[in-house]
Amino acid sequence: MQQELRNGLSQAGTHDPAEDSLFATMARVEHDLNDLIDALALLGVKRCSQCRKFFRCADPGVLFDCGQLVCYGCIPDWWSSLSMRLGITDRERIEGKLASWLRKYHRAEVVKAAPGTVPDTTNAEFQIVAKCVECAGSGKLMEGERCRFCNGLGTVRIVVPK
Ligand SMILES: [Zn+2]
Ligand SMILES: [Zn+2]
Repeated sequence: MQQELRNGLSQAGTHDPAEDSLFATMARVEHDLNDLIDALALLGVKRCSQCRKFFRCADPGVLFDCGQLVCYGCIPDWWSSLSMRLGITDRERIEGKLASWLRKYHRAEVVKAAPGTVPDTTNAEFQIVAKCVECAGSGKLMEGERCRFCNGLGTVRIVVPK
């Protein structure tokens, strides 16, 4: 009966039963794996969406969470490719969150650009450019004077030292 059924199907040429059962197995394995990842999350182990490594998230400086989880090591490459694809609203939202996370957990400093100078990045492990929070990116303070936190540029560099 099994054999007849299989022949019937292969004659029809639509489905290969071996392929079907492989697919079912794969789907089950994937389902089990997702359950396992959920279980690990309950134990405080989470996975970086980029390198797929697992991390203990007892230390909040290990994984950056902005809807997707990204480990510290993957941040520079991830951010440089993501920030180009995002619209301005999303970019500024994540950029602000990333900037405060870097400052809080990775000793990042806010560095204002001095007009007419090339930023010195020799002591920086990694940096991002972020909107100046003091003037909300306008470059001007309330009285209309030039923002002293960003030298009127509206952006600052968030630098993680080596
Ligand atoms: Zn990673
Ligand atoms: Zn400013």
